[in-house]
Amino acid sequence: MLNGFINDKARVSIKWLLQLVRGLTVRHILEIKHESTGVFHFLAILTDGRSLCDCCMQSNLGIPCRHYFRAWIDIKKLPFHLSFVRPRQDPNLAVESTPAVCRTHALGPHEFSVPTQTLRSAFASNPLDTTSHRTTPPPTTQTVPAREVFHEVQTVLRPLISGIQTREQVQELINGLSELQ
Ligand SMILES: [Zn+2]
Repeated sequence: MLNGFINDKARVSIKWLLQLVRGLTVRHILEIKHESTGVFHFLAILTDGRSLCDCCMQSNLGIPCRHYFRAWIDIKKLPFHLSFVRPRQDPNLAVESTPAVCRTHALGPHEFSVPTQTLRSAFASNPLDTTSHRTTPPPTTQTVPAREVFHEVQTVLRPLISGIQTREQVQELINGLSELQ
């Protein structure tokens, strides 16, 4: 079943969230509550600025959730960095050289640095992805999760489909891709 994250009540238990962050260095665990509905979520903020929410949107989609941004609005100097978003558009985008921002200003290098410098791009979007934190590249024969395959292929395909508008163009692209195989 595909979770579109429309239902704000969906979340993992706090017990499971604590299980997930075991081994990570947590600075804060926040309770983010929607006042009109009473729905609440727990958000773990790691010492390196990354986060993990019990809605699991960031770890699944690679996009920070609304609960993170609620905290980002209120917490002074809570960093947001492009590396928190799983790369989709341009795999060559040099996010490492882009400063992080808090609500009021860009953070200097002494205030925030990309948590993990990886050879697969800045992939700080999922603190649970331990393969992203290696300083040496994994073997090319390593099996990768289906979700990672999907996102990496999407990153490459996205620029190819950006100008396509007609059925003929779709067919040309499909033919071109078929010839590559
Ligand atoms: Zn969340």
